[in-house]
Amino acid sequence: MAAPRPQQQLLLLLVLLLAARRAEAWGKEGHIMTCKIAERYLSEDAAAAVRELLPASAGGELSTMCPWADEVRFRYHWASPLHYANTPGLCSFNSTRRFLLLLSFYRDCHNSNGVQGMCVIGAINNYTDQLLTYKDSTKSSYNLTESLMFLAHFVGDVHQPLHVAFEEDEGGNTINVHWYKAKANLHHVWDVSIIDTVMKNLYNKDLDTMVEALHMNMTNGWSDDISQWKNCTNTQTTCANDYAVESVGLACNYAYKDVEEDITLGDEYYFSRYPVVEKRLAQGGIRLALILNRIFDKKKVDTMPLYAQ
Ligand SMILES: [Zn+2]
Repeated sequence: MAAPRPQQQLLLLLVLLLAARRAEAWGKEGHIMTCKIAERYLSEDAAAAVRELLPASAGGELSTMCPWADEVRFRYHWASPLHYANTPGLCSFNSTRRFLLLLSFYRDCHNSNGVQGMCVIGAINNYTDQLLTYKDSTKSSYNLTESLMFLAHFVGDVHQPLHVAFEEDEGGNTINVHWYKAKANLHHVWDVSIIDTVMKNLYNKDLDTMVEALHMNMTNGWSDDISQWKNCTNTQTTCANDYAVESVGLACNYAYKDVEEDITLGDEYYFSRYPVVEKRLAQGGIRLALILNRIFDKKKVDTMPLYAQ
């Protein structure tokens, strides 16, 4: 077969880029940070199980594998809808339960063929169930290494507000904006641009310095709040649905708020939104640890303690 002509190559590239667009996630840095935080709060048993399941290439560190689900999205095309959940575009309710109304698992958690559970919430619950078969050779026919890498990634994604956002604009992907002087779309601003800017402005472009700062905040700025983050009364599955409801609320109150097509987002938007991004990265990390401790450390399932390592 003849090699594709330049025009055809361009078209192919465009198709691939469009297909990839909705499957983006917290950028690589966001996922690595979430998992680096989680690693510090794993119990001994959970940390040992994680180490055993990780591929050799991970060098024993979960965080190195947390961007993996984005890297395989062309190979695992079926998994694309598992990175997000779409909701109808409605932000203005008066009810105190308004954000619960914004998201309904049965209405919103499916892929484009209507297969139920094929969204980020269903994925977190499903991979948690698979990992619960660890050490049970009669039940486990799953590739638990992949289950772990998917779970760690999707717990990050569910905390990115625009991963639980409006179907109409594909979670902000179709809203074109400028991030300071650069062209971007709103989804990318939340996946990557805010994190890049905060790393540059506050943390000397160093990921570990930022993780350390988030960790410090757990015992300072967020210490009153943190017991709420750990709350998870659902003993059957995870609290992924609650995390998704939080995200859609933050999408309304922060991500979409006062944004319109072609707007330039600068200092005002950045300074009021980056604290939300930092908190969601930290919450994702704490909750990933919580889920992994529940899975692998069954003797402590009732109290679900978190230990800082
Ligand atoms: Zn993702």
